[in-house]
Amino acid sequence: MMTMKEFSLFQISSLSEMVEPDRFSTGQSNRELHLHDISPHYGSLPAGIIWPVTTEEVAGILSWTYQNDVPVTPWGAGTSTEGNPVPTQGGLVMDMIRMNKILAIRPRDLQADVQPGVLRKELNRQTGRHGLFFPPDPGADASIGGMIANNASGVQTIKYGATRDYVMKLTVVLPGGKVIHTGCKAHKSSSGYDLTRLFVGSEGTLGIATEATLKLTGIPSHHLAVTITFKNLDSASEAVAVLIGSGLEPAALELLPPVLINLMNREKNLNLSEEPSLFCEFHGVTRKALQGTADLARELCEECGATGFKSGIEEKDRRELWRARHEAWETIHRAHPKMETLIVDVAVPISRYPEMIVYSQNLVDEFHVAGYVFGHAGDGNLHVVIAGDPDDKKEWARIENINHLIVEKAVEIGGTCTGEHGIGIGKRKFMQLEHGDSYHLMRDIKDLIDPKGLMNPGKIFL
Ligand SMILES: Cc1cc2nc3c(=O)[nH]c(=O)nc-3n(C[C@H](O)[C@H](O)[C@H](O)COP(=O)(O)OP(=O)(O)OC[C@H]3O[C@@H](n4cnc5c(N)ncnc54)[C@H](O)[C@@H]3O)c2cc1C
Repeated sequence: MMTMKEFSLFQISSLSEMVEPDRFSTGQSNRELHLHDISPHYGSLPAGIIWPVTTEEVAGILSWTYQNDVPVTPWGAGTSTEGNPVPTQGGLVMDMIRMNKILAIRPRDLQADVQPGVLRKELNRQTGRHGLFFPPDPGADASIGGMIANNASGVQTIKYGATRDYVMKLTVVLPGGKVIHTGCKAHKSSSGYDLTRLFVGSEGTLGIATEATLKLTGIPSHHLAVTITFKNLDSASEAVAVLIGSGLEPAALELLPPVLINLMNREKNLNLSEEPSLFCEFHGVTRKALQGTADLARELCEECGATGFKSGIEEKDRRELWRARHEAWETIHRAHPKMETLIVDVAVPISRYPEMIVYSQNLVDEFHVAGYVFGHAGDGNLHVVIAGDPDDKKEWARIENINHLIVEKAVEIGGTCTGEHGIGIGKRKFMQLEHGDSYHLMRDIKDLIDPKGLMNPGKIFL
């Protein structure tokens, strides 16, 4: 497909007629603002940006773009890590952020109906008034549409699940402009193919979600944060498998290396012990039950060689702890100014997590790169954030090689190249390796729904 760098006057006038004047732009600054997410993947400058506000507008636009062979890339909050919303063929970026209405919160059903541009934190502010929340938490204040498209998850996925577990019903506009509705508002259904789950995680390559019914859950009445230190990363990751197997059901279980804790201490004045650590949280209905859980967790961790166990963390310190964890990527970035980061995002069966941690740390040491091994340990999800300069071809090849070796090992032991960030541009090269023949079936599904290949081209498939 030819890259569409500029629109003709006819195309500009057609698109301008579809929305109010301030909701279509060919201005250079708007186009540049939609050229990259937080990854080193740069796309091709889009010819224009459009901000729809209704399903009907999205349908009209996609009908016109299909007739006129214009590539379309959906955009949420632009916080992806793999170039997922980055236009690779120019064309039109459809920015969904003004479709930001919470249409209904239905506390008795534990559900909310939302437009895709609603931001996660705003949704939780509003549902919080009813004692409810939408648990998937990627740290960033992502849009619901972007979270659905990437099947985002985060620190509490171990207890509450990923975005996929919370999407009940979708309105989707297909390439060509047809509007379909998938799923239902009942808690269970065995009715036909699960199209909702096909669209969740499809990264905007099959259509644009314009409305979603989301499941909500009750805000836990009590929480208890714990930090646990170990002599080495190996025993910390052994303790992860033990804690998960114990049935204690942590609500968060994060592994952090001393080098990252050191950066966090320096930046946020945290005074944390700079040893391999687990940050853990439990949710429960009474304080007493939580204390019992913490006592058992301490016993199990000590059997795994824990050198320290701190519970009873004050609410203010608890918030600081999680804020620092959420901002780990920014902290690393600030410690390496002018560098870009490659983020490894593999996930493996929990019993193989310790060996993945050791393997990844050894590679970082052996290749002498600025790499930080940490992750959502409770989900078997491992991140290695590696800072470097993409213009230094030798150094970047070393970094890419580390990524490659870690993904190969993860897939070999039954895992995946991406636990939560999606494929985007960066992980396309691993699709065949991970999925074998299923990769071709995915390609067939894509071709069936988008025969012209105009929806978010250059993503997921090579
Ligand atoms: C500091 C930091 C920490 C992060 N930590 C995590 C983490 O712990 N877990 C995690 O999962 N992610 C994490 N992320 C990545 C990112 O926040 C998530 O992937 C998030 O879901 C992206 O949402 P977004 O609104 O920014 O979407 P965008 O990045 O704008 O888009 C994401 C994808 O969705 C598509 N899209 C957007 N809207 C629609 C729509 N309405 N219909 C169809 N397709 C659409 C886009 O084309 C693109 O493919 C982190 C990011 C940052 C910056």
